[in-house]
Amino acid sequence: MILFQNAALVDGLSDRPREGVHVLVEDGTIREVSDRPITASGARVVDLRGRTLMPGLIDCHVHVVAALPDLARNALLPDSLVAARAGGIMRDMLLRGFTTVRDVGGADWGLKVAQEEGAITGPRLVISGKALSQTGGHTDLRGRYDRRPTEYYTRRLGALGRIADGVPEVRRACREEIKEGADFIKVMANGGVASPTDPIAFLGFAREELAAAVEEATNAGTYVSAHLYTDSAIRRAVECGVHSLEHCNLIQPDTARFAAERGAVCVPTLVTYEALKEEGGSLGLPPDSVAKIDDVRLAGLHSLEVMREAGVRVAFGTDLLGAMHRHQSREFTIRGEVLPAQEIIASALGEAARLLRMEGKIGCVAPGAHADLIVVEGDPLRDLSVLTDPARLLAVMQAGRFVAERL
Ligand code: ZN
Ligand code: ZN
Repeated sequence: MILFQNAALVDGLSDRPREGVHVLVEDGTIREVSDRPITASGARVVDLRGRTLMPGLIDCHVHVVAALPDLARNALLPDSLVAARAGGIMRDMLLRGFTTVRDVGGADWGLKVAQEEGAITGPRLVISGKALSQTGGHTDLRGRYDRRPTEYYTRRLGALGRIADGVPEVRRACREEIKEGADFIKVMANGGVASPTDPIAFLGFAREELAAAVEEATNAGTYVSAHLYTDSAIRRAVECGVHSLEHCNLIQPDTARFAAERGAVCVPTLVTYEALKEEGGSLGLPPDSVAKIDDVRLAGLHSLEVMREAGVRVAFGTDLLGAMHRHQSREFTIRGEVLPAQEIIASALGEAARLLRMEGKIGCVAPGAHADLIVVEGDPLRDLSVLTDPARLLAVMQAGRFVAERL
């Protein structure tokens, strides 16, 4: 048992810290939360006076197998090396305070189980398995003059996706991913940056293919997430029933309002374009991809304002690749240029938990939730850089166990 006393609680539900909070943790779970002192004999007492307690952070758009920015090369690495590197990427995420992440392409059920068993120290994983793409789409890594069938890479752990063309193949791919442990389905419904033959404006999949994926996901009690940039791609995806709208850099007000009406969720990932701009080329991102970065990067901050104005739900995502993963927490301060801190914090807590369908279990400090908690020095509601500075992250607890602690 661990008893936190006198904490200032920041959980995204209020624009001011809740002072003087006491939290009792037992058996990996939050047992009691009170504004009055809790008595618990035998508990280790940790006095957090002057410090901020928060739920563990949630990143809704990551690729834990992406150890190299060159995704074609990443897909050819031995599975053993990919798994080991994913373990390192996950450990670093956890040490940044992210206690749960949603992997939107690449991670398999094995990594998820390895984390649950403790063989990997990292965030809880919610996974899509392999992302689906049409031939020539965002996970077709072959380049212009390579006509090999794509099986040579699609079943490898280091591949973020697989190819499916036509309604029957899309249905089969969805069913296979769900059978193999996917928690939701990911589709590439628009061109992308880190792929060789799909300009940003390309639409990925026909409408009937998107609708088929949505039906398969719905049949399995889950939803579809789609990689999207352009306004027309986003509108079409929402019309087809897609729930989780990734990136959305070029979204326009009408479509944002339409997405809000349908209860869809946008997951911007602005930090990856900044990191790619700064470091992508030198880290091995191919020139075709470097040339596409500004097509989406320059619209990023404005897209946040469009989403806010439209009242669409927004969750926190990052989408970093390779060595650029170290910039993960910068997403907070980038969004802070145009959004209130409380909304950004909520996007990585309550909103994220809702998108992951784990409300009440993560992203909150409440009885019955997993004891996933972080302690920071300073008030992130006044200064978001509290969340980007490793020196101010004093403790990370996951399932009631400290994975890092300087209290
Ligand atoms: Zn994407
Ligand atoms: Zn992604």
